[in-house]
Amino acid sequence: MERTFAIIKPDAVKKGYAGRVLARIEAAGFTVCTLRMIRMSKREAEGFYYVHRERPFFAGLTDFMSSGPCIVLCLEAPDAIKKWRDLMGATDPAKASDGTLRKEFGASIDNNATHGSDAPDTAAFELGYFFRGLELS
Ligand code: ATP
Ligand code: MG
Repeated sequence: MERTFAIIKPDAVKKGYAGRVLARIEAAGFTVCTLRMIRMSKREAEGFYYVHRERPFFAGLTDFMSSGPCIVLCLEAPDAIKKWRDLMGATDPAKASDGTLRKEFGASIDNNATHGSDAPDTAAFELGYFFRGLELS
């Protein structure tokens, strides 16, 4: 078993897609270990996306992530990190395959509906950034 960190981003929550995304998560066979609705501050979003701090889209990305409520989740499944990235699809919804969440629920590269950790070390950092150990036990 493996755990990964996921976000239903502010655009998807605002459009009323959270329930449908959760249904897809469950139908795909993930166990939702825990989840919470939060509204990130600008500073919290900057901390979360710290690896992207030098990128030209950093300011827009962190404005967007702090623009409204989102849902943070811990998902568990065999090979969960890759499995969740596959279900999300490509970063740019215009390039995402049919049947992926970003194709169905994303509008653009900066309003792309979901987030997923990309490796075991980032999953560990991101889960620890939002959840206490007790919530993940
Ligand atoms: P995420 O980390 O959100 O799951 P990702 O791993 O597919 O997405 P990253 O390269 O980590 O993609 O980029 C983080 C986020 O920054 C993307 O989800 C996207 O919203 C935004 N982003 C990435 N590249 C661009 C770009 N060229 N222009 C605008 N926004 C971008
Ligand atoms: Mg990423």
